[in-house]
Amino acid sequence: RRAHYAELKDRPSITRDGIDITLLHNSGLVADLPMLDDTGASGVGLFRTELQFMIASRLPRLNEQVDLYAEAMEIAGDRPVVFRLLDIGGDKVVPYLRSAAEENPAMGYRSIRLGLDRPGLLRTQIRALLLAARGRPLKILVPMVTETFEFRQTKLVLKKEIERLARAGQKVPEKVEIGVMVEVPSLLFELDQIMPEADFASIGSNDLVQFLTAADRANPRVSKAYDPIALPRLRAIRLVVDAARRHNKPVTMCGELAGRPMEALALMAIGMTRLSMGPASIGPIKELVLNVELKPIQAAVAEALSVGADGITIRQLLTEWVDRQ
Ligand code: PEP
Ligand code: MG
Repeated sequence: RRAHYAELKDRPSITRDGIDITLLHNSGLVADLPMLDDTGASGVGLFRTELQFMIASRLPRLNEQVDLYAEAMEIAGDRPVVFRLLDIGGDKVVPYLRSAAEENPAMGYRSIRLGLDRPGLLRTQIRALLLAARGRPLKILVPMVTETFEFRQTKLVLKKEIERLARAGQKVPEKVEIGVMVEVPSLLFELDQIMPEADFASIGSNDLVQFLTAADRANPRVSKAYDPIALPRLRAIRLVVDAARRHNKPVTMCGELAGRPMEALALMAIGMTRLSMGPASIGPIKELVLNVELKPIQAAVAEALSVGADGITIRQLLTEWVDRQ
């Protein structure tokens, strides 16, 4: 099968009825970037920068961060890399940064909350990203945004760092884009406020589904009970897809859902055209994209979402469509 997937890598990722689907990698280690050549993916949709921090025994210094980001961009070449700002806390433990013990670390002092509370950490990382770009375009993603306010604050830190760099006579990236991760349910009700502020959006379904269902993503006893593409969750994801379209902003799915065929099909059925996943999933998803006729499935899923599809789960409906094709 691997040989078979390798044959697909240079084929354009377009459905039988002509819908373009962009396939991207989730990554975090420079070591897996050369895999872009093997999979034929368009770039890195999610680079988890906290991995460098998690495997270190002390805070990586500015120059160590610059080196890592620069190397990632180097290997990716013309293909874009979306660098997510530190998402420390919750399931991503950085022992030397541990603050007080928390009862609910997933809902605790983490991610951009920590970044804004300890701006030294955030500033250093943003500075490292700007330097690593060496004048090339840069894409930054902000995790765990709960309110538009936090995104604005982060943008302010970015703006100040760009100005600082320019003042020091250093090369500023030719373009800096900043995107928002939608993974805290509260943001679903502020999409029309946040979208105009962001250059792009990315959905983190791992956290979004965990918080929507109040079921720990790392605890199979509860998380397995709630299908992430059941109607209520798919409706939530569709809110983001629709808002992004209203505001003419690109939206990517970077949660693990995107790398699983039936789930990816559900996402494409609600209009998602950018999917970011572990490199090993690119082959199977590419095969799905090439073989599917999407428009009839989109219509069937839209109908199911609006009428509630009494007794029919989205999963059943999709299986029937796939069997028919
Ligand atoms: C997510 O929450 O879906 C996501 C992509 O981020 P992470 O898994 O790193 O929390
Ligand atoms: Mg997340």
